[in-house]
Amino acid sequence: MESIYWAFTHRCNQYCSHCYNHSRPGGPTVSAREAEAVIEHLPEAGRLILSGGEPLTEPEILQRILLAAGRKYGAGFPLALQTNGDLLDEASLSRLLDSGVQHISIASQDAYHARRNGQRERLATLLTASGLIEVEVGDPENRKPQERTFSFWGATPDLWLGGLWARGRALRNGIGRDDPEHNVCARWSGALGFLDDGSSRQEIAIQLTSVYACCPGTVESLGDVSQEPLVDILNRHRGDPMWQALNRGDPASMGITAGVDAAYARRRIRELGNVCLWCDEYFREHRGVAESDCNTATEAWPDESRRRPLVPSGELASLASHD
Ligand code: SF4
Ligand code: SF4
Repeated sequence: MESIYWAFTHRCNQYCSHCYNHSRPGGPTVSAREAEAVIEHLPEAGRLILSGGEPLTEPEILQRILLAAGRKYGAGFPLALQTNGDLLDEASLSRLLDSGVQHISIASQDAYHARRNGQRERLATLLTASGLIEVEVGDPENRKPQERTFSFWGATPDLWLGGLWARGRALRNGIGRDDPEHNVCARWSGALGFLDDGSSRQEIAIQLTSVYACCPGTVESLGDVSQEPLVDILNRHRGDPMWQALNRGDPASMGITAGVDAAYARRRIRELGNVCLWCDEYFREHRGVAESDCNTATEAWPDESRRRPLVPSGELASLASHD
């Protein structure tokens, strides 16, 4: 498998208005037993990205995961940590590097993260002083064995919010633009190729212990990787025409064999403004997945629609224009 993305915690020191998985102070984290079971059930992989939430809010579980990953994959394995960087200091960085982290991805360079001012300079100085080399997001150099690297990125409209995250607080707060032509499903982070073993585009996303074909996450997960091997979970879904359509990055075709034609799906995508919202509708209305059937990770993504956004859109707009 090319890449495994694991958000092992939804706990965060921040409460960003654009967060796609409802991470927050006090959010859920896998238990120590679940963490070790997940690592045990992962297959050989090209890289493992640990994310959240903010992984550094859970240092003990993170350390356990890093040790278990080190035992499983060995030294020099492309182990990456995605962090907002707020809690990264000399001591925590040293522990991460000693535990085998090869790449640090600072994912907070945008208008929505509260502590962004001056942070890039502080972190660049810290990381460079420890011998890490800055690379661009997506640069193949960040996978060079034995070389430790870091990158900065954030939720900019072109990279992240352009029709991508119809999820979590980003959806609730109306951040991101409706774009029915933006087919995230056929891009990296979408479902394209998730079943294609050996393909360079294969990535699986895990939220807590629930497995998804894509980062946005479907209403129904593929399975629980704390309970069974990831390969077994994927194998169970290979013959399903719906998952095959998503594997082609073609959500408009996900219901064809169930009698929901692509023309109807394309119309609904246009009306809903986003392919993932159509995908959600299909699961609920045509596949009979009720809210109560949803996996544990989805339960951890509560409907916060009745809560007032913490950051009003006017203030957000002004933050964005000053950045
Ligand atoms: S976007 Fe990142 S930093 Fe902000 S609440 Fe979500 S996980 Fe935390
Ligand atoms: S359309 Fe469905 S499977 Fe594809 S990226 Fe969106 S939520 Fe995932």
